[in-house]
Amino acid sequence: MAVLEIVKVGSELLRQQTETVPKVTKKIVGLIADMIETMYAADGVGLAAPQVGILLKIIVVDVGEGPFALINPRIIKAEGEEIDVEGCLSVPGKQGYVRRAAKVWVDALDEKGKNVRIEAQELLARALQHEIDHLNGVLYIDLLEEEIPDNGVKGV
Ligand SMILES: [Zn+2]
Repeated sequence: MAVLEIVKVGSELLRQQTETVPKVTKKIVGLIADMIETMYAADGVGLAAPQVGILLKIIVVDVGEGPFALINPRIIKAEGEEIDVEGCLSVPGKQGYVRRAAKVWVDALDEKGKNVRIEAQELLARALQHEIDHLNGVLYIDLLEEEIPDNGVKGV
């Protein structure tokens, strides 16, 4: 496993559309392990593949219940609305209020290539929406309601 370099705002890599992963190969599983290690090294709670320069639909998340990866994730349903503070590992030193759905349902493949459906609320719902935005070249700073000084909220 390896800690990868995190791509920072200003790089075109963060503004590209990503490719669907056709098959969960050993190489993909290895990339996921590196992404999880990178997320922990940066003290984050989520990371999307474009943040390590890989234009594939892969995200990893750990909101305190253990790490997991989602491949080709897709929000199939969203409910409610919530404004809360967000930060991004690719936008260091900044945080801000972003409006997100309060609850989302996400379909994806897991690390074994199995179909999974995740029902998420609170921090997990926010992290998933933030990471899935990364897969479409969208950064939270595009959605900011208000920027605030960095108050230590963990980035995604
Ligand atoms: Zn981010």
